[in-house]
Amino acid sequence: MFERFRFCKTPDCGIRFEATNPHADCCSPRCRSRGTYLRNLAKKYLGEKATLKTITAYSIVKALLDKRIKRPKIELLTKMGVDFSALGPAIPFKPGDRNSVFLLGNLGLMMLDDTTMQIVKLTKK
Ligand SMILES: [Zn+2]
Repeated sequence: MFERFRFCKTPDCGIRFEATNPHADCCSPRCRSRGTYLRNLAKKYLGEKATLKTITAYSIVKALLDKRIKRPKIELLTKMGVDFSALGPAIPFKPGDRNSVFLLGNLGLMMLDDTTMQIVKLTKK
């Protein structure tokens, strides 16, 4: 027996669907390829630091950014599957900056306050 109804793993989607095989984790071929695209992008930008958790976090942050959700609540990020303990310490954005940023390749999560973060794009030096 396997769980017939499950939630699509692609961060853009998350709808409940009926699985036709035990290994199905996406609702459609479109979501599957979107998920692959996001993971490949994560691997490209995270490089050697990529782990399953940082790849997941990157995919979620990129999916939110593509939806123009630039100031997600920490609660939403956690609910979607971002594990902050896997991201490493938050560091100041610029020297002397009071806002700290969790780095995720070319993206970052900046603390705005206790409940909200801002997704920032980082440029290479
Ligand atoms: Zn889906």
